[in-house]
Amino acid sequence: MKLIKYTTVGGILLMLASFIWMGSSSDSPQPCFLVVSDVHLNEQQHMYSAYNGSGDAGYDLWGAAKDKIASILKDRKPSFILLLGDLPMHHALPADSDMAKSEISSVINSLKFIASEHNIPLIYAPGNNDIPGHHNGVFSASHFRAYTDTDNPDQWAMAFGNVQYPANGRLSDLGYYSVWPLADHKLRVIVLNTVTYLSKTNDTSQFIWLRSQLRNAQGLGEKVLITMHVPPGSSYDGKASWRKADVCLQEVFIRSIEPYRRSIVGILTSHTHKEGIKVYQDSQGKPMDIGLSIPGIAPGHGNYPAMELVSYDSSFKLEDVFTFYHTYSADSVTDQTNITKWGDQSISFIRDIVHRPSGTSLSDLIISSAPDSVIAWQRRTETILNEAGPKRYDSPKVVSVTDGCE
Ligand SMILES: [Zn+2]
Repeated sequence: MKLIKYTTVGGILLMLASFIWMGSSSDSPQPCFLVVSDVHLNEQQHMYSAYNGSGDAGYDLWGAAKDKIASILKDRKPSFILLLGDLPMHHALPADSDMAKSEISSVINSLKFIASEHNIPLIYAPGNNDIPGHHNGVFSASHFRAYTDTDNPDQWAMAFGNVQYPANGRLSDLGYYSVWPLADHKLRVIVLNTVTYLSKTNDTSQFIWLRSQLRNAQGLGEKVLITMHVPPGSSYDGKASWRKADVCLQEVFIRSIEPYRRSIVGILTSHTHKEGIKVYQDSQGKPMDIGLSIPGIAPGHGNYPAMELVSYDSSFKLEDVFTFYHTYSADSVTDQTNITKWGDQSISFIRDIVHRPSGTSLSDLIISSAPDSVIAWQRRTETILNEAGPKRYDSPKVVSVTDGCE
């Protein structure tokens, strides 16, 4: 009797649980997009050999990352994927070598396949390791054209979506473009080629194009997400990433986006391989925009391999960042089972770091908080995410006009 009663109660609980589960599963997931960067695939080696000095991703780690991406797409249904560059292993340079081409092809085509299965766009920003000549910033579409299985040479990494060309029509050579990943065209993603600023240059033509894009987007009432590989601001070595010739490119960038701050929902960068929340300040030193530094899949900068899911509200304001990380470390490199399974570890910036209820806007919080608070929150994520190796690299938390202009 007692047993029957227990079973009945258990059954009711089970029914209740499945009812709640059915209820929540019928709700559409929170709108979001997925960002992946710095894969640095060494497709010839498993992690044990690939790690080396530069911490590239072996085929086993990349396999685990692809499984994780597929499961995130299935469970969280992001609207699009951003791939922020640096696809081949470091030592495959120059990037027009056969090995680099093969690795670029492998990463792009497998992500295109996963994205197309979910019928969502894949948007790519060029990284310094993807570009022939490495640092000279001259993007080569032909380089991508030959290896991305596309009939449309202007679409290189694009799986879907409308691509708008820069006014001078030299998109293919320049590696920057705008794209609207959502059907209603209310969100414009501007992809910049900031690899070009690793060499000293006074060429500000990309910012002239950027301003015209922002002006146009504002006129149309669109929101804008700005993405790039090499971030502005001082880099992990304390020096400016964008090298200064006569013109301070960073100041030109800040002054270019400043008038359009209300249209810009966020600035996404990678290159450092480190996770980071940043504040972009206007030329008066006031918080203006939120920036996210996207961690690498490759673990070599003292980071855990990681990718980020960014949620947004109905006006595209960024709500939260979920970092999905693999607890791979250089110490466990001989343990293959540890590498091939990505695991369920994740951090919500709002829930786990700043301890606010979900639904709090990450953008509002970061822009309205003192830089010291942002830095303190960021330190908490670093103790979780960046403990895999020596903490050699760190990214700046506040990006201002003067940072990198000295
Ligand atoms: Zn990289």
